[in-house]
Amino acid sequence: MKIICIGRNYAKHIEELENEKPKNPVIFLKPDSAILHKNQPFFIPPFSNEIHYEVEVLVKINKVGKFIDEKFAHKYYDEIGLGIDFTARDIQATCKEKGLPWEKAKAFDGSALIGNFFPKETFKDLNNLSFTLLKNGEVVQEGNTNAMLWKIDELISYVSQFFTLKKGDIIFTGTPAGVGKVKEDDILSGAIENTPNFSVKIK
Ligand code: MG
Repeated sequence: MKIICIGRNYAKHIEELENEKPKNPVIFLKPDSAILHKNQPFFIPPFSNEIHYEVEVLVKINKVGKFIDEKFAHKYYDEIGLGIDFTARDIQATCKEKGLPWEKAKAFDGSALIGNFFPKETFKDLNNLSFTLLKNGEVVQEGNTNAMLWKIDELISYVSQFFTLKKGDIIFTGTPAGVGKVKEDDILSGAIENTPNFSVKIK
């Protein structure tokens, strides 16, 4: 399986990192070795002094697809989840500055926290899903999929122009504003539509 991540999909997060608003979705990948299963701790890697959390809504692909038309995109997923795209912001800043790829900053071991998935029918409207991230019990990120620049079905259609989607692939749909640094002993907890989804201890 592969993990496909979308960058810069929420205007306020683009502003906080002083990035340019993209004309098309920004895409990058994480390998399966990046997966951090729920209930496992996240270990701060030795190569970074600035690991950021980015809470994101996840979409799990349920069948093979290529060049998927937006109007059929809903047939390619039945489960929605929540996770964290852990990012070595210091490494990413250097990569951006030099125009280099982001993998060292984004795709390292443990960088893709995958929480619980729920059948999409659990939710009334996938384009109006609220989600939050708490750090040590305090809300640090609050998002709603209604603020996405590209909605889930648009993302699936766009991504499938480049990569064949396969059953089990996961799409990280981008993070809202409020990203920040983690430190040892922090506890990060995510919720979607006010339902607790995951909790992770930083080590
Ligand atoms: Mg992200």
